[in-house]
Amino acid sequence: MSDLEELKKQLALCLRMLEKSEIIDFNGHASIRAGENRMLINVGSAQRSQLTARDICLVDFDGTVIEGHGKPPLEFHLHAGIYKARADSQAIVHAHPKWSTFLTMTGHAYLPVFAQGTLVHPLPVLDTPDSINSPEMAARLTAVLGDRPAALMKSHGAVTLGRDIVEAFVLITYLEENAYRQYMAMQVGTPYAFSEDEQRRCREKLRNPGLFQRTWNHFHAKLES
Ligand SMILES: [Zn+2]
Repeated sequence: MSDLEELKKQLALCLRMLEKSEIIDFNGHASIRAGENRMLINVGSAQRSQLTARDICLVDFDGTVIEGHGKPPLEFHLHAGIYKARADSQAIVHAHPKWSTFLTMTGHAYLPVFAQGTLVHPLPVLDTPDSINSPEMAARLTAVLGDRPAALMKSHGAVTLGRDIVEAFVLITYLEENAYRQYMAMQVGTPYAFSEDEQRRCREKLRNPGLFQRTWNHFHAKLES
């Protein structure tokens, strides 16, 4: 099997795990950089819960399909823009998850309340709910993102990027779990936010490819059960 076929399978698995854990629904997309000016991305119309390698297309950064069945999502500009701006980004997840979006809908800052959540904190917020459906919108997002591994988009969603698809996937699950815990804690009181020193120690321990793979394996096992 070619490397490209293996990456397509990995990307399809990532999207099915995101759907199973309710981070994506009928929308949401993920991509993997595939050489110069190229990326693998799921077809916009594909059924997320049933996704296979056949639903992954190879496109250039203008959205032209080079290989595959169907068109990329309208927000492919988000992926193209980030790959152009961030040479360190090999994979991207964009979703419209509930809990983190509740925070941006109501103007609550994202707090590091959960050890794994410190990996994406501080988390910049794009101050518009508009879709990232043009190079101009992608430029606004990458300006907000800076050198961070993740960002929120007000009343819209979240984006994470990684050195591989495992990292991009794991970061969005951490981001959303932290937001869920913060939201629930806010119902009964004021959540405790980790101190700078506590955050630093969490990051040192938890930013680890072996732990990322274990988290991926946890979601993979749930999908199989
Ligand atoms: Zn979106």
